[in-house]
Amino acid sequence: MYDRYDRKIHYLRISVTDRCNLRCKYCMPEKGIKLLRHEDILSFEEITSFTKIAVENGIDKVRITGGEPLTRKNIVYLVQLLAEIDGIKDLSLTTNGILLSEFAIPLKDAGLNRVNVSLDTVDADRYKEITRGGDFHRVMQGIAAAEKAGLLPLKINCVVNKSSAEPDALGVKAFCDSRKFQVRFIHQMNLETGEYAPVEGGTGGDCKLCDKLRLSSDGNLRPCLFDDLSFNVRELGSEKAIRMAVEAKPECGTKSVENKFNVLGG
Ligand code: SAM
Repeated sequence: MYDRYDRKIHYLRISVTDRCNLRCKYCMPEKGIKLLRHEDILSFEEITSFTKIAVENGIDKVRITGGEPLTRKNIVYLVQLLAEIDGIKDLSLTTNGILLSEFAIPLKDAGLNRVNVSLDTVDADRYKEITRGGDFHRVMQGIAAAEKAGLLPLKINCVVNKSSAEPDALGVKAFCDSRKFQVRFIHQMNLETGEYAPVEGGTGGDCKLCDKLRLSSDGNLRPCLFDDLSFNVRELGSEKAIRMAVEAKPECGTKSVENKFNVLGG
């Protein structure tokens, strides 16, 4: 699929839940968010059927995100259903890693290719502070388990405040170099004010290169993270929602009051 600006759209990010087991300061309020009702969240059947149609229309890269995707009940089964779709060349998942040691082998067995793990510091106290209570050692165990299970290449997402030369970011870089993990520095973004920058070490944040559509856990297909445009797949049907989202994809992001990182997954 090509949009109006001749960008090839072939990457789908699916948020499978709005729930998260961390409260990262830049992502979620301490008390959490008003959660979606169970019936508003797309079922596995709906996600799979939407993805099949997206693949028929040219999607070949799929990333599962959230919220925290590993908190979605039976996530391994959803991965298996997605892995069975012919035509997906790259099936990955973004996680905070807290539950990864338990899930790494089942996810690999279900057909997941690789994971991105979010990690902003390698200092356990700082990790607890940034995530409001997260246990750094569990993330380390999760990363080790993912590596052992062969969920490779393993990439680390590191959110930086202003620069990748900050002490926390330098620590993450040294850790990644020592373990041969790729690191992507994501500048802290603000959807409401429209502050975003290209991801260092990745392709995100550069509108000219944007190849994505995002499906929220409640079925809204969003062509741009920094825009409120949204096409509901339950109301429109998958085919029409995809066509309308690709046609409407803006040349460049501006700002969004409706999108939330903790719901859409970045
Ligand atoms: N729970 C999973 C995780 O932690 O990776 C997936 C969802 S999380 C919202 C996806 C990514 O968005 C994480 O790497 C997180 O650090 C990033 N993120 C969240 N809020 C952000 C913000 N304000 N600016 C930039 N990145 C952000």
